[in-house]
Amino acid sequence: MVKALPQRFKPELLAREGTRFELVLPQSQLKRLSGILASSNNDVQVSALFSRLKNHIVISGRLETRFTLICQRCLEPMDFDVSEPFELIFVDDELKAEELPKEFDPVILDDQGHIHVVDLFEDEVILHVPEVPKHSDMSACNQGPTEFGDLPVEVEEGKPNPFAALKKLNLH
Ligand SMILES: [Zn+2]
Repeated sequence: MVKALPQRFKPELLAREGTRFELVLPQSQLKRLSGILASSNNDVQVSALFSRLKNHIVISGRLETRFTLICQRCLEPMDFDVSEPFELIFVDDELKAEELPKEFDPVILDDQGHIHVVDLFEDEVILHVPEVPKHSDMSACNQGPTEFGDLPVEVEEGKPNPFAALKKLNLH
């Protein structure tokens, strides 16, 4: 059985059902993510199951999305597809979060024991944004950047192109 995951919910209640949940979360709803992407017109698709681990409720599943980023080699937009598993554990407060073994990723519930999907998934999605996005196939790169005239175009591998930051600023 598949159900739509509500925007705000109480894990305690959903965990009882043993149901698979699906959610379509527009990237534009994730404000911090939108600030990183060149455009945020795509959705994040989440498929999740709840389970119990001792006194905690765990949500695990897979998230899929497509990031639109600026290639740091040619400064043109590029798509970056993500399909990653996640596993998060709900806790009541900071203290409980600190008690957890390191391998768990805690999510802190609000005073009423609820969580909003933006608070639940935003960090998890941002985690998968590549630090230095580049077209995986070099031939896909537009040979540039011509607008910088005689400036050297070689960029050291693994280092962000300083011109990329300039270009990004101009976009906003
Ligand atoms: Zn490129």
